[in-house]
Amino acid sequence: MSMEMDGTKHYATRMARKKSYIDARIAEAVTDLGVLLVLTGNGKGKSSSAFGMVARALGHHLKVGVVQFIKGRTDTGEESFFSSQPGIEWHVMGDGFTWETQDQHQDQKSAQAAWAVAQRLLRDSSLSLVVLDELTYAIKYGCLDIEMVVHDLGNRPAMQHVVVTGRNCPHALLDMAHTVTTMEASKHAFHAGIAAQKGIEW
Ligand code: ATP
Ligand code: MG
Repeated sequence: MSMEMDGTKHYATRMARKKSYIDARIAEAVTDLGVLLVLTGNGKGKSSSAFGMVARALGHHLKVGVVQFIKGRTDTGEESFFSSQPGIEWHVMGDGFTWETQDQHQDQKSAQAAWAVAQRLLRDSSLSLVVLDELTYAIKYGCLDIEMVVHDLGNRPAMQHVVVTGRNCPHALLDMAHTVTTMEASKHAFHAGIAAQKGIEW
């Protein structure tokens, strides 16, 4: 047998083994459930991944709610695009939480107002997906009680999916999540002096 034929056979055997492994895992995953996903870490891609799932869900005509806990800027492409789509409610919570204010009392009030909106979404079984963008900061800086957040997430409708984004995710949320992805910042253009680019960062 030539080396080339030998290689082709070896490839086919490896792929057949891989297929039977994957098919067996797929056969085992039979539960339909609302999943809690956490996208955390210092690398880029947390919010944009969440908005990717929003696009998927809307593409299936599922209803979606989004709460942005930090108002980074007022002119984001995602808000402009998604808020004009049918089936989505999009809430940018004014000063949800920000290091600009440096006023803990004000930040607590704002974060709690944002959580009140989140609570309403987390009780609405018509919503298939709820995104809580940059939620983790409000917890980390003591503006929201983690026990209340865990309680409300735990009591949401059984088939509702939730995506939480933000760095430094508290352990209680990591523990209760079904899927956790930690983005690793291997490189970022910002550190090469490149400004935030329209369509990429906002
Ligand atoms: P994105 O919205 O692009 O998916 P993100 O949600 O992962 O980013 P955030 O922590 O919310 O990241 O930060 C928002 C902004 O900071 C984005 O413009 C993003 O490109 C930028 N950013 C993310 N990670 C880094 C990093 N490691 N260094 C510098 N800037 C970063
Ligand atoms: Mg983000």
